[in-house]
Amino acid sequence: MKNKHTNKMDEYHVFGEFGGVNPSISDSATYTFLAAKTMSDTFEGNTEGCYLYSRHTSPSNLNLAQMLASMEGTESALVSASGMGAITSTILQICGAGDHIVSSRTIYGGSHAFLKNYIPKFNISTSFVDITDLKKVEDAIQENTKMIYCESLSNPLLEIANIPELAKIAKKHNIPLVVDNTFTPLIISAKDLGADIVCHSLTKFINGTNDTVGGAVCADANFITNMKSVMDGAAMLLGPVMDSLRSASILKNTRTLPLRMKKHSENAQYIAEQLEKDGIKVMYPGLKSHKDHELFKKLYNKEFGFGGMLTIDANNLKTANDLMEKMQDKGVGFLAVSLGFYKTLFNAPGTGTSSEISEEEQKEMGLNDGLIRFSMGLDNDIEHTYKLIRESLYEVGLL
Ligand code: PLP
Repeated sequence: MKNKHTNKMDEYHVFGEFGGVNPSISDSATYTFLAAKTMSDTFEGNTEGCYLYSRHTSPSNLNLAQMLASMEGTESALVSASGMGAITSTILQICGAGDHIVSSRTIYGGSHAFLKNYIPKFNISTSFVDITDLKKVEDAIQENTKMIYCESLSNPLLEIANIPELAKIAKKHNIPLVVDNTFTPLIISAKDLGADIVCHSLTKFINGTNDTVGGAVCADANFITNMKSVMDGAAMLLGPVMDSLRSASILKNTRTLPLRMKKHSENAQYIAEQLEKDGIKVMYPGLKSHKDHELFKKLYNKEFGFGGMLTIDANNLKTANDLMEKMQDKGVGFLAVSLGFYKTLFNAPGTGTSSEISEEEQKEMGLNDGLIRFSMGLDNDIEHTYKLIRESLYEVGLL
């Protein structure tokens, strides 16, 4: 299946004020009005094309949001200062005291920590479930449940959410399905598959240059307008606003996203296949051995492959650490958190990006401390990179 939104992304172009090939950057926090009445109308959200104050929105942020709405096929979008800014304000827009959330148990550590440790103080509770077990998901829904939350491809265990089936459950109970699509931009069109709200950390693949954090919420126009409401919009009142200079630079980077995603996937597929042949325990959605390989094939936009993320099991933390240091020394990539960079990044999520999840819970979900997560880079000569990984594996005794 082709991604039917990429042509819209290509067509979406805003010229600069002086005919520049890139849009002008609106370097202002506040905006003037020719008439006082237009200002009060804008406060009430009644004026199209008028800008009030940059925490509400700015031309640069709107340009990027429009691009991301085109990418996800949603009516509208907003951008935020970080992925967590997008996720937390979405959750707080929908849930209030006494409400309940059904969430996948394998999600980014920060999102997990927010649901488990932070929002209980607002009396919002969460049931964490195995998102691949649809019966468990439905059984967890209570009268006060306000959303199902998951990641399309989960961090770090690379579990695949069956978005169409989860959407059916959400619809049946009249609640939104909120999907964090950070790992699989362009690969999974979550809205087309039935999600109501799609969140992103732009920090990762979408920006791709690791020079900023950023986030986005893609949804219908009504929801996005409500999130920006000056009266009670979480995005407006909590203030997770992106700076215009940043949104302009992220917008430029989105132009190469389709090419980058193809290359990340191609390199990850190659490394996953080679390592599996070597007898290493590899988890990658593009391998037949991945338990939901067939499901992923039903959901994905084939032209973009199975994504840039893979994990290997190095048996224990010491070997994982030794291996990562060796790989870094040899130039395979960097021992660093995050993902979606031109260079391969690796870390041991049990003690890193998922350390917010307790040891006991990690064990229950199959996250062992020898697990190494790779975000495969854009290496031009991936066969050479493989040789370096192989040498490292040999030196730590895994081969
Ligand atoms: N969602 C996923 C899947 C992530 O991996 C991350 C960060 O690692 C986030 C959300 C949070 O994004 P940010 O760091 O931009 O706030």
